[in-house]
Amino acid sequence: MNDKDLHTFGWYAKRISKSLPPESFDPVPLRLLGGLAYVSVSLICFFLIGLNLHFTINLFLSVILGFSFAGLGFLGHEILHGTVVRRPWLRDFLGALAFWPLSTGPQLWRKWHNMNHHVHTQHDEKDPDAWPTLEKLAKSKYFRWVYLLPFPIRATFSFVSLSVQFTLHSIKCLFLYIGEFKVKNKVKVIIQAILPWTTWIVLLFIIGLEKWLFVYLIPLLIANFIVMAYISTNHRLNPITPVNDPLANSLTVTVPRWLDIIHFNFSYHTEHHLFPTMSSKYYPLVKKKVKEFWPERYHEMPMGKALYALWKTPRVYFDHNDLVDPYGKKIFGSLGHGLNPENVTKKDLTLHINGKPQSIEKDNTPPSPPL
Ligand SMILES: [Zn+2]
Repeated sequence: MNDKDLHTFGWYAKRISKSLPPESFDPVPLRLLGGLAYVSVSLICFFLIGLNLHFTINLFLSVILGFSFAGLGFLGHEILHGTVVRRPWLRDFLGALAFWPLSTGPQLWRKWHNMNHHVHTQHDEKDPDAWPTLEKLAKSKYFRWVYLLPFPIRATFSFVSLSVQFTLHSIKCLFLYIGEFKVKNKVKVIIQAILPWTTWIVLLFIIGLEKWLFVYLIPLLIANFIVMAYISTNHRLNPITPVNDPLANSLTVTVPRWLDIIHFNFSYHTEHHLFPTMSSKYYPLVKKKVKEFWPERYHEMPMGKALYALWKTPRVYFDHNDLVDPYGKKIFGSLGHGLNPENVTKKDLTLHINGKPQSIEKDNTPPSPPL
């Protein structure tokens, strides 16, 4: 798609809104029952792990806890968009509780996610969740080192790191945005970040390392992996876009129905970027409308296929619409720009010098940092 064909999310929302029922814009407090179920299940798991049962049973309980922590995170995301309750103090309080296992404070989350990620989705400078461009990469010693690793090692490393990425990114965003809060709010944001961590560390001293691993650390890694499996496929196969066009820069993944139920329809991500303040309960309806209005622009694929495409492609943008492996000197398309998840292909990276194409694939000199 040409850059001049891009439209803002407001442009699309305006055209679909008329064909949606008025109640789809109301908050849905009943979503809190899902949170209640997760908290109850978590407390039962905590209790059972405390009984010193067999190692394999504890591991199984950790998996249930991991799913519960992730589910609560998805609910926290909804709550903090104001789609569950509208009163600000209650929204923040419930959002804080839901994000407690992932240790992300409500005020920081709204700044990072609502005010920056949603407003500037896939903007190379302003979206805190966007992956770097080749120009940015050239300035980062860490990423340059990472891209010297052979592709299969790098891909394995990036998949394993999904199990810590949310937590690390949350800490990074705290440092990134803390300076932008006014003094009074700064204190609040820091307290909201420290309190959950304090409870988990105090718990370690109360119950001991072994139980703590099952009650907290293993579930935290599992929850990180689950939320990152969605977050990494939401935008990272799409191009960087000069206009925040959700149909161009977002991907809706499809998962089995039971996962949509326990993950609060988080898979409907393009729909979420069109209507972030609408309850996800109505996203299947929005999807139907989007596919009626703009079937050729809409990106959708099964989660497994999206993760496979993610595995096969590098995470550095080149000229906004391509992904580049800087040392392998290969470029890959993005969604809407030649990336076919069924058959991921790559082209030689060709640089234009003085208007003449220069294929550096034929150049067998050892890898050097990208320019
Ligand atoms: Zn959101």
